[in-house]
Amino acid sequence: RDRAARALAREPAVSRDGVRVLVGVNAAGPADAAAATGADLAGLVRTEFLFLGRDAAPGIDEQEAAYRGIAAALGGRRITLRTLDVGGDKPLPYVAQPAEANPFLGLRGLRLALRAPDLLDTQLRAIVRTAHATPVSVMFPMVSTVAELRAARAALDAAVVAEGRGTPADLQVGMMVEVPAAALKAAAFAPHVDFLSIGTNDLTQYALATERGNDAVAGLADPLDPGVLALVAATCRGAGPDVLVAVCGEAAADEAAATVLLGLGVRELSVAAPAVAATKHTVREIDVCAAAELAARALTAPDADAVRALLSEGP
Ligand code: PEP
Ligand code: MG
Repeated sequence: RDRAARALAREPAVSRDGVRVLVGVNAAGPADAAAATGADLAGLVRTEFLFLGRDAAPGIDEQEAAYRGIAAALGGRRITLRTLDVGGDKPLPYVAQPAEANPFLGLRGLRLALRAPDLLDTQLRAIVRTAHATPVSVMFPMVSTVAELRAARAALDAAVVAEGRGTPADLQVGMMVEVPAAALKAAAFAPHVDFLSIGTNDLTQYALATERGNDAVAGLADPLDPGVLALVAATCRGAGPDVLVAVCGEAAADEAAATVLLGLGVRELSVAAPAVAATKHTVREIDVCAAAELAARALTAPDADAVRALLSEGP
């Protein structure tokens, strides 16, 4: 029984009606990758773990070693390296950051990285080196405009040139969708990326104006709110058939949410290591065609409770 369960954990996750869904792990270091039996990839590597709590930024060699360590812990499967995602709420002593009244609306994610080009260039060179050795996707956080994405891609191109070995054959490029306007503009981003990964934690925060971690508004911050789901739907619509849409926020590990997400067109769920096996199981129980009908109804539901009621009823 255990042997059968272990074997199944490594099998691809395919829905009842034959739709392959990638199940990834969110990793904040090699231990998470090592614990993620059966993950098809690391759908999100939060590279902040390398940068926080020290006096100077890690160099290219140290970063490359860390990234290759995560890939090795994952048996050489694809790792999605998110460029540094810090901001006013997570200060770094070696980056000049202004004091901000609203850090979540300020210089965070890619915005900060583009203002700290040495930091971004060093990281991108380490990512390019890693991509010459093992399958890598690079992903930019907190993108609001196409101009920011183009600037990030230009920095990546420069890193490829600086490394002098051409573009790594297996390198894929994507961005996170965490800003409501970016979700609505997905079609404008799509020509510039291989994939979009929805960060439902931040997308929910911004869509519902509910600060993350603020207990007073936690009850409002529900990723199943029909307003948030409409943004997921817009992302999938805008992405078109050639750009994969992933979800790497916590909603990806919620069984009810997974049904709606797949129904709206999401084809990769990336979750914390302990949730990988259960998420694969959830995918195998879903009929994507029926889920699409439920999702369409969820979009017109009045609130998150009504969405949950709809989902517990089933098709
Ligand atoms: C998110 O915002 O959903 C996400 C996955 O990124 P983080 O939680 O690291 O902000
Ligand atoms: Mg985020």
